[in-house]
Amino acid sequence: MKFNIKDWQVRESRAQGLKKFKTAIKSPFASEDEAKDALKESQDVLEDLQEALYAQSDWSVLVVLQGMDTSGKDGLINHVMSGVNPTGCEVTSFKVPSEQELAHDFLWRAHRALPARGKIGVFNRSYYEDIVVPYVHPKQLKKGEDLKDRAHDIVQFEKYLARQKVLIIKLYLHLSRGEQKRRLLARLDDPSKNWKFSEGDVKERKHWKRYQEAYDFCFNRTSHAHAPWHILPADDKPTARWLAAQVINHRMLDLGLKQPKVDSSRKKELKKIRTHIQASE
Ligand code: ADP
Repeated sequence: MKFNIKDWQVRESRAQGLKKFKTAIKSPFASEDEAKDALKESQDVLEDLQEALYAQSDWSVLVVLQGMDTSGKDGLINHVMSGVNPTGCEVTSFKVPSEQELAHDFLWRAHRALPARGKIGVFNRSYYEDIVVPYVHPKQLKKGEDLKDRAHDIVQFEKYLARQKVLIIKLYLHLSRGEQKRRLLARLDDPSKNWKFSEGDVKERKHWKRYQEAYDFCFNRTSHAHAPWHILPADDKPTARWLAAQVINHRMLDLGLKQPKVDSSRKKELKKIRTHIQASE
């Protein structure tokens, strides 16, 4: 399949509802083996890109991952990042905010978890939960707070980060309600998946429509040139994983990362050091 990143991007200042994006596409692969090979190829590319990112230590990369319950966020992180050197990558999962987190501004916990220069950070859920959850459950919003303001603050935060050389890659795993039902049932029916089942997921499923509206609200207000949203069909896991890897690689390739050049005087120095090491015991 020819990959064109624009096909998956939400364009700035254009109301593009989630409905315009598919949850399933024809599989780009003829077989499971082909899918595995394609993902492996993307993992290898990402491994090289991460090495260059680390060597250059100028940029950092933040992958923001959102999606409904059971949309496959954890599995995607496992598969896409599996080739990357673990010291160069950190995954942060954002849960219901703790008391300490609630005592701060809503971006505080995100800011603390940002990747350092040269590193890749993955946010498994993110500050976007601070729009999506209160959109569905307005009682969670503090008095006088407005979600439009939060969206505005997020855009400003992301623009600031972009200027600080943080490449932000936002991915939404677009799952259908029918596929969520299938996955929830599988968690009940398959004993090896029982541990993944959560009553909370069933409770939130009742608000499906409202969640979709909440995401539309986010996409229409927070997709901007520095950090566009990418909406990926998530009903088929191998397809979603491959597309996510493609998006990450394409955005990182745009940085034009290069291994730092060693100049001739440094080369001479290295030669001397080599001679010393060679001559040592
Ligand atoms: P996951 O579903 O990501 O594997 P959990 O089952 O622990 O992990 O779910 C995390 C829960 O925390 C989700 O229901 C999510 O909506 C909630 N959450 C995360 N961030 C926030 C937030 N800022 N405000 C309210 N709820 C949040």
